[in-house]
Amino acid sequence: MRIDLHTHSRASDGTDTPAELVRAAAASGLDVVALTDHDTADGWAEAQAEADRVGIELVPGMEISTNHRGRGVHLLAYYVDPTHPPLVAELERILHGRAARVPTMIARLNALGIAITEDDVRRAAAGAVASGRPHVADALVTKGVVPDRTAAFDRYLGWGKPAHVDRYAAPLEAAVRAVAGAGGVSVVAHPWGRGGYGRPEEATLAALKEVGLTGIEVDHQDHDAADRDELRAIARNLDLVVTGSSDYHGYGKQDHDLGCNTTAPAELERLTSARATGTSGARRSE
Ligand code: AMP
Ligand code: FE
Ligand code: FE
Ligand code: ZN
Repeated sequence: MRIDLHTHSRASDGTDTPAELVRAAAASGLDVVALTDHDTADGWAEAQAEADRVGIELVPGMEISTNHRGRGVHLLAYYVDPTHPPLVAELERILHGRAARVPTMIARLNALGIAITEDDVRRAAAGAVASGRPHVADALVTKGVVPDRTAAFDRYLGWGKPAHVDRYAAPLEAAVRAVAGAGGVSVVAHPWGRGGYGRPEEATLAALKEVGLTGIEVDHQDHDAADRDELRAIARNLDLVVTGSSDYHGYGKQDHDLGCNTTAPAELERLTSARATGTSGARRSE
């Protein structure tokens, strides 16, 4: 049984449509795949229809952009009711922040002498609900300014680079509560990942568990063997679920092939039962 709990489609910054992603997951021998686009459930219906057709289990998810002590933390949310009003309000605020920063990024690139327009980015995003830096990167590739997304981040869009622009992210604890309130379970994505993220330590994760956190993503390409060992030990101490995932983005992210990391069946079982019983400290007060 092969389980991959973190992937992105064109609903956010992946390069496969949701249906293509599900077919690719089945073709690469996965039995269960979660679709976890950034800040949106927009791809779920299409992915579910394709999963039914090809006979693979789809776990509905999303990766919520959150902020903890001034640093970005990505929170994976599974099985949420995507119509739950407090969650919807938070997601709308994040999506608005994503859209609102595009003109500023364009202005900064223009100031560097790069002729790129909002229309170029809109074309690259091709209807994605969650627009992001990868779409700006794709527009730069199309214009021949850079060879690929990685180069666009390295030169212009990454943290501290000239066209980097901050955006709104949800307070981490509030996001964990909103996910629990929406009937879902939450898992901190690549907690010690690269890319300007924070490095939440055991005490932080313990506090998050108190407000409803269910697990941490241990097996991820951003974590080396030592990180994984330490995170596994923390998960054991705190009785948190351990997940492993690819963070697949199609051809948008190198070295993140479907199934390159996987989640043990027993850990997925723990995730789904936490949702069913509302255990793991989840307070469904909303
Ligand atoms: P944003 O959501 O707009 O803040 O952009 C962050 C996204 O950019 C992440 O979710 C990654 O998928 C992607 N990303 C970050 N760094 C790189 C990179 N070096 N190459 C390709 N994609 C990247
Ligand atoms: Fe992404
Ligand atoms: Fe992430
Ligand atoms: Zn991701």
